[in-house]
Amino acid sequence: MGEEIQLKCPICGGTTFRKEEGKIDSKWGFTAHKVLIFICNECGYILQFYKGRTIFDAD
Ligand SMILES: [Zn+2]
Repeated sequence: MGEEIQLKCPICGGTTFRKEEGKIDSKWGFTAHKVLIFICNECGYILQFYKGRTIFDAD
């Protein structure tokens, strides 16, 4: 409860996101994964979190 994830958009530096929940359906025989999708309100950049861990570990 009350869990807040502080996100910052890597593109525009925005900190407001629209949160959506979704599923990545399997294309290769894996089970579907639940994902959290955060869409930047400023530029529309999409951050996807897979079971609480980002799959964008690029930085
Ligand atoms: Zn942004």
